[in-house]
Amino acid sequence: MFAAFLTNNGHFTVTDPNYRRVYLINSMLLGIALICSIFFVINLAFFQLYSVALVDFIGALCAVLVWRRFQQQPEVDSSAWQTVILLALVLLAYLAVTAAEFYSLSWAMVFPPVAFFLLGRQKGLILTVAFFVLAWLLLRLVKVSLPVEAWFNIGVSSICLVFLIRYFEVSRNEAFKALAREHRKSQQLSITDSLTGIYNRAKLDALLESEINRAVRHHSRFSVILCDLDFFKRVNDQFGHMVGDQVLIQFAAILTESCRDLDIAGRWGGEEFLVLCPHTNLAGAVQLAERIRSSVENARFEHQQRITLSLGIAELSANEDSSSLLKRADDALYRAKAKGRNRAEY
Ligand code: GH3
Ligand code: MG
Ligand code: MG
Repeated sequence: MFAAFLTNNGHFTVTDPNYRRVYLINSMLLGIALICSIFFVINLAFFQLYSVALVDFIGALCAVLVWRRFQQQPEVDSSAWQTVILLALVLLAYLAVTAAEFYSLSWAMVFPPVAFFLLGRQKGLILTVAFFVLAWLLLRLVKVSLPVEAWFNIGVSSICLVFLIRYFEVSRNEAFKALAREHRKSQQLSITDSLTGIYNRAKLDALLESEINRAVRHHSRFSVILCDLDFFKRVNDQFGHMVGDQVLIQFAAILTESCRDLDIAGRWGGEEFLVLCPHTNLAGAVQLAERIRSSVENARFEHQQRITLSLGIAELSANEDSSSLLKRADDALYRAKAKGRNRAEY
């Protein structure tokens, strides 16, 4: 329940780049609201410090209002700004009301990590500098007198703190970017056939299911073309596996070029390829298959020999699933082979 509270009811998930910022915004607002409320009661009930209690009350109220707005409109950037500014005001108010007491200065150290984390390196640095200058002016105003060594130590340790936090923020950003890059790369690899660079079987399987679902939903036509290179074993046997690989690469390029924009081509396995044809009836798929067949027949391949292929076509019929559709395309391909190859059957 607490996690739901900190992530806007699960609106932000752990894979969201803003996940941790959202967590911190909600935690800070909750913290400010709680602490201010407690001090409001204490100052009012025990010390009769009405002006301080009023500051506590305003702090708690603002925190609740910012939090409510963030829950209704999950805009991270604007809420981050509001949280940082509210925190600055609460800390400055605390410094002002406890100015005579030196220990209150230690609370100023809470500000830089929050500002850097929520606003990033540049804005975080600007706000931190502004906050420290304001805090210093405030302390001068209420005539806090500290020995020069104290100012020196506070100043130098604050600068060290700011640089370290900046360093952590840079590291965090770099790590996040590297991770996102790797994630994109591995996602790309998981759907790509490593030899030909077109979609692999896993991706084709997923796309086949989603395209069938879409065709059923929209009552649209859908066809598939299964392609198999003819006598490919001979290419390997005569010219070697490396040349065979080059032919497959070249073939994949010709196949992709021959397809229309909406068609999806991929390697089904070995020397077999599958083309998914959304919004296409049997006649359209036959036309496309013929175009693929003649492009391959007329192409010049690595080993200077002609390559041909056989194609099996099937259009999705009512209440048919993917395996039945593929089975019909495979049967048609078998017929194309039986009838002498270098042809399309349906
Ligand atoms: P058919 O006309 O009946 O299809 O004859 P085929 O020789 O093409 O069919 P067969 O299934 O007998 O042989 C397919 C060959 O494809 C065998 C295999 O070595 C080759 N092959 C499959 N994948 C690859 C690959 O990635 N690289 C290379 N070079 N060859 C491959
Ligand atoms: Mg085969
Ligand atoms: Mg073959």
